[in-house]
Amino acid sequence: MFKQANPLPHHVSLLSSPYQTHYSASNPFFINPPSPKVSPLFRKKTNSSSNQSICSSSTIPTSSFSSIPTTTTTTTTTTTEVEAQSESEELSASSTSSTPSFCSAFKMVPVVDPFVFWTFFASLLGFLLLFIFRFQNKKNVSSERKTKMNLLEDQAKSSAGGGEIPTVFNSGTDIIIVGAGVAGSALAHTLAKEGRRIHVIERDLTEPDRIVGELLQPGGYLKLIELGLEDCVEKIDAQRIFGYGLFKDGRRTRVSYPLERFHTDVAGRSFHNGRFIQRMREKAASLPNVKLEQGTVTSLLEENGIIKGVQYKTKNGQEHEAYAPLTIVCDGCFSNLRRSLCEPKVEVPSCFVGLILENCQLPFANHGHVVLADPSPILFYPISSTEVRCLVDVPGQKVPSIANGAMANYLKNTVAPQVPAELHDAFLSAIDKGNIRTMPNRSMPANPLPTPGALLMGDAFNMRHPLTGGGMTVALSDIVVLRDLLKPLHDLNDSASLCKYLESFYTLRKPVASTINTLAGALYKVFSASPDEARQEMREACFDYLSLGGIFSTGPVALLSGLNPRPLSLVLHFFAVAVYGVGRLLLPFPSPKRLWIGARLILSASGIIFPIIKAEGVRQMFFPVTIPAFHRAPPLDADTKTM
Ligand SMILES: Cc1cc2nc3c(=O)[nH]c(=O)nc-3n(C[C@H](O)[C@H](O)[C@H](O)COP(=O)(O)OP(=O)(O)OC[C@H]3O[C@@H](n4cnc5c(N)ncnc54)[C@H](O)[C@@H]3O)c2cc1C
Repeated sequence: MFKQANPLPHHVSLLSSPYQTHYSASNPFFINPPSPKVSPLFRKKTNSSSNQSICSSSTIPTSSFSSIPTTTTTTTTTTTEVEAQSESEELSASSTSSTPSFCSAFKMVPVVDPFVFWTFFASLLGFLLLFIFRFQNKKNVSSERKTKMNLLEDQAKSSAGGGEIPTVFNSGTDIIIVGAGVAGSALAHTLAKEGRRIHVIERDLTEPDRIVGELLQPGGYLKLIELGLEDCVEKIDAQRIFGYGLFKDGRRTRVSYPLERFHTDVAGRSFHNGRFIQRMREKAASLPNVKLEQGTVTSLLEENGIIKGVQYKTKNGQEHEAYAPLTIVCDGCFSNLRRSLCEPKVEVPSCFVGLILENCQLPFANHGHVVLADPSPILFYPISSTEVRCLVDVPGQKVPSIANGAMANYLKNTVAPQVPAELHDAFLSAIDKGNIRTMPNRSMPANPLPTPGALLMGDAFNMRHPLTGGGMTVALSDIVVLRDLLKPLHDLNDSASLCKYLESFYTLRKPVASTINTLAGALYKVFSASPDEARQEMREACFDYLSLGGIFSTGPVALLSGLNPRPLSLVLHFFAVAVYGVGRLLLPFPSPKRLWIGARLILSASGIIFPIIKAEGVRQMFFPVTIPAFHRAPPLDADTKTM
């Protein structure tokens, strides 16, 4: 079905092999790369006319578009046009060829049976009517498929004066980036290196002091290398992380990242988030084509459905406007601007309470630590050579009051008894010191409204529970996808076309992002205590499964670390845990009660993972290649517009 298509330029093809760039042969940090599983789809490099879309392949039946909700209008129209054209060619060919026989038939009227003549005449008339009817029908179907994006596209074209650059865009800036946190500052540096003129507007340029984004998974570190930003974790006393220690009811086990095939430098990194961000901001601002300005963006400037820039307030209260063909909104988890660019469905399953422990040794040096506590997990990891971050999960949206001492009581009486012995005293000292911080743990599946002239990135676009520390890895991975997608587009002014290409971004990012998101949501539920016996069994089974070693621990931890973000592998391991749990229940002697708990365990596992997968999008997650946008890429030459 997809034989003809390779609309992606080579660099995008490799990237868009959804399972990813870590194994890039050009990546010096990867030793002994396994042969990349590049689909035959991507092998052939085609010219820009084939870039048009896989949909223009005449081998795709029109019906295969019926389930595609958006953005297919142009491509469907192309198919329709191709078919209509070939049909009209067929018709004219048949009418030409039929002319002599018709004439001869006419001449032969006196000698030929009139029945033959009228039959022939009626067939010709019928064929003609059929053709007219089908043509009309296709036109109707095609117009029905017009989506919001295509309407916007039409508006964009008309407001751009048929492709001319509106004067408003001639501001000397190619891209405005709102927010210089993890995503914004990495993006500014990345796109500036590609030659774009970047204007970054950040609310507060002083070093952030937060309890978020302190552990970068090895998959994220690989992305940092791909973006040329790996030196941003140097000189900030960042710690190397090699895996996790798991603790449950007095038992402990260690699971290591499968890093054997990588350069020795590749590992996780943990640090003070603010130090890391400042390093990235400095690096971005050092480029001549980056303007980093302090200001708070108050709104997006929109005209005829196209975002043309932003309005912002500087520190001294002055209102300004900035214009660019593309605005990328990276204003973080509390984003005020995301509402017009996506349909946010934010959930807050819990909050993290943050403390810093000093003068203590972690049970497993250079590892993250997860305590499967009651009611929910506790995390420990080093953030400098002398400090350990502790994050205590508190289910729900409310936490005990810090001001009236309820929080200190909760931490001392409920949490401290579950903390590993080595950390107990340092934990109590940290509570007494009083520097207790809280942060809501938000989760929000990506649900974009493709809008010409604007794009969301980072937490403003997509969030997951921070238990697995996947947020920065997803943000950096998205930046790599976007960089490669924009690379061949020299002119960003055609907002309608740009918007269509950017739709590919939403699909290409999906396998990596949705694997990390789904694992975070599922693991949080499995690791939390529950009164339900089936859930308790699942939790126990998960701990034991990870303690088995070999593929049973490296498989899940490779998913978690972003080293092998494959959705199918995630589902297999998840249900392997469930089946392992059932096996533990039924061996050596099954009883009716144990059978019943086993059945409920499977049901409970399904009830955990399937809603998350549904929210992520089954098709985008498991079959991204069946989505037309997956194959859409900008023309290699900007002047060759193939839209
Ligand atoms: C408790 C917690 C712990 C976490 N731990 C980890 C972890 O260990 N590892 C991990 O990978 N991820 C972790 N995450 C997730 C991670 O922090 C985020 O995924 C990451 O910070 C997202 O980066 P961002 O650039 O989108 O947002 P941010 O880093 O929050 O940056 C947003 C920026 O936008 C600026 N801004 C906001 N509004 C405006 C405006 N109107 N105008 C101008 N500027 C504006 C802000 O000042 C800020 O600098 C954690 C999250 C939480 C909640």
